[in-house]
Amino acid sequence: MTDLLLYDTTLRDGAQTEGISFSADDKIKIARKLAQLGVHYIEGGFSAPSMRTDMEFFARLREEPLGHAKLVVFGMTRRTGTKADKDPAVRNLVELGAPVAAIVAKTWDHHVTAALRVDLEENLAMIRDTLRFVKEHGVEVCFDAEHFFDGFKHNRDYALKCLAAAAEAGADTICLCDTNGGALPDEVRDIVQAVHQGIGIPLGIHAHNDCELAVANTLAAVEAGAVQVQGTINGYGERCGTANLCSVIPNLQLKLDRGILSEEQLAQLYETAHYVASVANMPPPEREAYVGRSAFSHKGGMHVDGMMKSPRTYEHIRPELVGNERRFLVSDQAGRGAVMFKAQALDLGLDKDSPQAKEIMERLKEMEHAGYQFDGAEASFELLVQKSVGKYQPRFDLEGFRVIVEKDRTGEIRTEATIKLKVDGVEEHTAAEGDGPVHALDNALRKALERFYPQLKGIRLTDFKVRVVDAPAQATAASVRVMIESRAGAKTWTTVGVHTNIIEASWQALVDGVEYGLLQSLGERGNAQ
Ligand SMILES: [Zn+2]
Repeated sequence: MTDLLLYDTTLRDGAQTEGISFSADDKIKIARKLAQLGVHYIEGGFSAPSMRTDMEFFARLREEPLGHAKLVVFGMTRRTGTKADKDPAVRNLVELGAPVAAIVAKTWDHHVTAALRVDLEENLAMIRDTLRFVKEHGVEVCFDAEHFFDGFKHNRDYALKCLAAAAEAGADTICLCDTNGGALPDEVRDIVQAVHQGIGIPLGIHAHNDCELAVANTLAAVEAGAVQVQGTINGYGERCGTANLCSVIPNLQLKLDRGILSEEQLAQLYETAHYVASVANMPPPEREAYVGRSAFSHKGGMHVDGMMKSPRTYEHIRPELVGNERRFLVSDQAGRGAVMFKAQALDLGLDKDSPQAKEIMERLKEMEHAGYQFDGAEASFELLVQKSVGKYQPRFDLEGFRVIVEKDRTGEIRTEATIKLKVDGVEEHTAAEGDGPVHALDNALRKALERFYPQLKGIRLTDFKVRVVDAPAQATAASVRVMIESRAGAKTWTTVGVHTNIIEASWQALVDGVEYGLLQSLGERGNAQ
């Protein structure tokens, strides 16, 4: 453990991401998750009374506090020409019940005169008055020095005067912000070092990612003496985002030996990143370092071959350290060795020199040619292998289905699917409606099967992706590839279907999704992603 403190601003800076809009419920869920991860400071939102969601969030957390993590309310210095105690947003810094206030002020003279349009002395007075008022009420203060690096480069004296004003008024921490994200690691290191030498207050770093350097700048600042590390989960934040804590934390801990979290907490990182993405309604991390689904997946033939001999050949850390897992992707490119490795891992008694093994390779080639992609659809791959080795038992026989989409004069659309199937000779005939044809078909299939397999109630369809695939030259119509993600509890799996007809492609992926889910719930061997 070190003296470093993690400061998460997913709920404030992250909420400023294009495409993210948190409800108070979302915020509370994420705050709890962050507290569980071991974050020390959780910036929950703004102090401005007009921010309704944030007002509700702070009010609710007053009733049910976060445990060890300290909640932070974020606000600006008092408005020009008023007193701190007359400014409602400043009063809220002490009245919302958060033990810590982050108070942001401009420290770049150009911003003070051009954007804020107040004179430089008044800006210093605004800093002093606001911090004093908040400190007098026993609230811990983090002073956010906005645009500090740009300010320091353009008018060092003034930027430092702002910090001195904050220090004089009792700031507990001073966080240096690269608000525009334009600084380079060497500059950050030098400037943090220079400030660190002249000030007796712990420093923080808040770096934006406009040059894809937020993580590097954060590490540089820490090496130069900063102890408070600000950032967000998955790097959410204004414009290109803020330093991604999912990279910052393991870099500090595993590369620089500046441990912040316990091993158990660090191993929750993957799950935290994916959980926050799902609450934020953002795509799950795919190619992100450490926590992306592909961060430890191996596809190239030589890579897979090397990995099979020794995992250290193509991995910089063990994926389990951050809660991620190693994956071998199934594709033509991976070659026979990798496919066999993957197939054998399923424990179905497959011999790599057997006729079934040859059949799997041929089938895979054919299907990939037709547009199937098993890279991200390992559940369908597993079913394919089961079929080839004769271990596959269909859970039902389809007699037929029909999907109807109707639109009437008023513009209203109605979708209905009917399905007829048999389970062990018992026939079931059901109809269901849905928001669209695939949804209706999914509903009808479940409704028909639930009588036989009640465990289907715990399986949900969580994602549906359609993509047009390049048609072979002789084909008249382009095929579509449908990928469906299903979930039961914390486990997810993806299945694939391909056809020129989107309903048929969806049907294939739906059936695989259900079959695979049943296979898992029936306690048989499964190896989903
Ligand atoms: Zn920011």
